[in-house]
Amino acid sequence: MLPNFTYVRPSSLDEAVRLAGAPGARLHAGGTDLLGCLRDGVLAADTVVSLQGVQELRGIAATADGGVRIGALATLTEVAASPLIRDAYRALAEGAAAAASPQLRNQGTLGGNLCQRPRCWYFRGDFHCARKGGDTCFAAAGENQYHCIFGGETCFIVHPSDTAPALVALAAQARIAGPSGRRAVPLESFFVPPAKDFTRETVLEPGEILTEVVLPPPAAAPRSVYRKVRARGAWDFALAGVAVALSLRNGTVAAARVVLAGVAPVPWRSVAAERALVGQKLTVATAARAATAAAAGAAPLSENGYKVALVRGIVEEAVLSLA
Ligand SMILES: Cc1cc2nc3c(=O)[nH]c(=O)nc-3n(C[C@H](O)[C@H](O)[C@H](O)COP(=O)(O)OP(=O)(O)OC[C@H]3O[C@@H](n4cnc5c(N)ncnc54)[C@H](O)[C@@H]3O)c2cc1C
Repeated sequence: MLPNFTYVRPSSLDEAVRLAGAPGARLHAGGTDLLGCLRDGVLAADTVVSLQGVQELRGIAATADGGVRIGALATLTEVAASPLIRDAYRALAEGAAAAASPQLRNQGTLGGNLCQRPRCWYFRGDFHCARKGGDTCFAAAGENQYHCIFGGETCFIVHPSDTAPALVALAAQARIAGPSGRRAVPLESFFVPPAKDFTRETVLEPGEILTEVVLPPPAAAPRSVYRKVRARGAWDFALAGVAVALSLRNGTVAAARVVLAGVAPVPWRSVAAERALVGQKLTVATAARAATAAAAGAAPLSENGYKVALVRGIVEEAVLSLA
């Protein structure tokens, strides 16, 4: 059952920031993640601050320099369907389309997708795990078939978002408004790994709101793709996924970003795979080298060794799809 809380619906960003900064306040965008967390007692809230009345958080539009601005309240359906995104930032359109189910994509927003809480069954269940202030990550020695193989350390969650890896691959920037003003961070630095702080997933401070995501102008000859493997075809979180963004010059890879999904607590950039691609033609051998590089250094737990092979396969497949 949902606990009692006060519900407020500000109509300006300034008012939303002021309300969000109050102790016990929680932001509500589409509510598809927040309400489940409140109902299951994963989070508590005295006040739920709906962002739905804040018009400046809406919209998808070209920027003056040829990039694209996506308001935090843009739904996943809008992101997946936007011609601006489908044409030049295909990995993002594919990531948004691969998330959840049609109903959830109609209701869920890009901001909420990036700020959603982890899906770890210990975190979401009745376990006082490290991420909830306890001293144990129960996945380390427990049921860990869906947990991470990179970057685990004190907590072994995987980042649940399908749009985040695509946005990191596309070098997007997050814009934030808060009690101390506005700031911007590369999306790559927006997510907090457990080694830094295992009690939160983003750099957002109390009262801060993710207002928009900005994509830079596309590189010359941009190509990008998002591939995801899941247990069920209908809807499911990624067992493993990858976003690859490349630019080509004379048939050779001039720049590459490879970001893994579903295998690390944050979207996991594989610099080794990127190095294996840059300066090379997009051949079967190049794709195989990138795939091997992407899987190197994985540290699987007792039940999730299969993810290493998935990473290898999905990276090879994604790179070849761009040839
Ligand atoms: C059954 C199911 C299956 C799913 N499958 C997938 C999947 O395969 N892939 C995937 O990527 N996702 C999946 N999801 C997650 C889903 O995409 C998210 O629930 C949704 O994107 C969240 O958006 P929302 O607007 O509803 O967020 P909300 O529920 O409103 O908010 C989520 C969290 O983000 C915070 N928040 C929201 N907006 C902002 C903002 N602008 N600034 C700061 N904080 C903010 C809220 O306080 C809350 O903590 C699934 C969810 C469900 C329920």
